[in-house]
Amino acid sequence: MIQVSSHRLEELRTVLAGKVITPEDADYDTARIQWNNDIDRRPVAIARCLSPADVAAAITFAREQNLEVSVRGGGHAFSGAGVCDGGLMIDLSAMRRVVISADARLARVGGGATVAELDAATQVHGLAVPTGVISHTGVGGMTLGGGIGWLTHKAGLTLDSLVSVDVVLADGRCVHASPQEHADLFWAIRGGGGNFGVVTTFEFKLHPIGPEVQLGLFFWGMESGEQVLRLARDIVPNLPPDAGAQIAIGLNAPPAPFVPPQYHFTPGYLLLVVGFSSAAEHARIIAPIRDALPPLFELVSPIPYLALQRTLDETAPWGLLGYQEAIYLDELTDDVISEIVNRIPAKRSPLSYCLIFRLDGAYSEVGDDETAFGGRRAPRYIINIAGIGATPEILRADRSWVRSVWDALRPFAKDSGGYINSMTDDDGDRVRASYGLGKYQRLARIKAKYDPDNMFHLNANIKPYEPPLPG
Ligand SMILES: Cc1cc2nc3c(=O)[nH]c(=O)nc-3n(C[C@H](O)[C@H](O)[C@H](O)COP(=O)(O)OP(=O)(O)OC[C@H]3O[C@@H](n4cnc5c(N)ncnc54)[C@H](O)[C@@H]3O)c2cc1C
Repeated sequence: MIQVSSHRLEELRTVLAGKVITPEDADYDTARIQWNNDIDRRPVAIARCLSPADVAAAITFAREQNLEVSVRGGGHAFSGAGVCDGGLMIDLSAMRRVVISADARLARVGGGATVAELDAATQVHGLAVPTGVISHTGVGGMTLGGGIGWLTHKAGLTLDSLVSVDVVLADGRCVHASPQEHADLFWAIRGGGGNFGVVTTFEFKLHPIGPEVQLGLFFWGMESGEQVLRLARDIVPNLPPDAGAQIAIGLNAPPAPFVPPQYHFTPGYLLLVVGFSSAAEHARIIAPIRDALPPLFELVSPIPYLALQRTLDETAPWGLLGYQEAIYLDELTDDVISEIVNRIPAKRSPLSYCLIFRLDGAYSEVGDDETAFGGRRAPRYIINIAGIGATPEILRADRSWVRSVWDALRPFAKDSGGYINSMTDDDGDRVRASYGLGKYQRLARIKAKYDPDNMFHLNANIKPYEPPLPG
């Protein structure tokens, strides 16, 4: 581990308004922990920043001391990118303020806020930003890489709602980026991950949503897998604009009041269809599901949007060990369905799952090159395969399971890219493939302008462009 003298750390403590946490501090272990408990890294120090000035001071300190830098937003990267070994962890978890301008339909969100905090503040006004489906996830990493959830069909990715950002760059400068200012940086930040600087504030446009939405939850046993996926492939691409859906495979039915006791903890296939218009319209949309394939049980009910956003929180709590891969597929063909159905039972942990989202609607109304998002905007599916367990032994088994499902699905994909927010392993070729060569090269040039020394490299890393040597 690089040694930093206590004298230097005292200097950092003097300039930072936030706390500098070192291994001697009682809260060091809780401060360095990430959502994925498989990650166990020990930074020299953790700078818990309170302001852009703090972030700039931490960056300057790291540069002067030649320390590796990691940036922790909500701490949810499966790869544990938010924490480094032997370097300086810039911790944004205290920068989570959300300020709403209801009339202008805008939200200013601290770089370390969680989805739950964003939702709580926006829903007071019946407004929302499209985000992911687990509310303890960080807005920071999610936005910078994409942001897929219930509202993707209706309102696009999280990054599609971004209006501007405040960023601290690798040289310590604080800049505002928008379509008018530092437009190249603003383009790159919408999909290029944490490669370009530390975002201290995200400004989002807000969409009228809720406070009540319509939930349609349908559950079938493992034996119905093939029929469920065929049904989903008929229903989901034809949903009206005001609805969204998700297919969750392999999760156990919870011991909840709406689940008949004989099905508590039964593994199966879950189709969730959420409506953002009236109950009558939702009833019309979901009727064909029940008619085509009667489920073991269902829950069809209006629920608060805030409750919807927390529905799946307990399937992936903090403290577990995880490994994930994701793949984009144009179609759920019969062969794809067979591969998924045949491979699901081999998972070891009841918490491991496969999640399928349809990407279309508002998602597909954005041009491929309008943002730096690492994925084409043509309608298709994203399949997330996650191994999640309580012990290293279970994770080892389900890491192999994740890889086997992913390997089986790869021949059906157009390219070897994936969703950068779902990559656990650092694999430069896949990062390049996710963006495609043209977009990657454009990002590499912007990286060379704003972070030429690749200070921000603990992420789905884009290497700064290097011009070819003369001759
Ligand atoms: C349980 C769980 C559920 C998930 N559900 C969804 C989902 O429904 N939809 C979806 O799209 N994704 C989902 N994800 C993936 C999630 O979007 C990514 O893991 C994302 O990177 C998390 O962001 P974070 O800020 O919490 O993570 P962190 O680990 O803190 O950061 C992830 C990366 O972003 C960088 N970063 C974070 N904040 C900033 C910032 N303010 N400025 C600069 N760089 C920053 C970090 O340096 C790191 O490289 C889920 C992940 C988990 C673990």
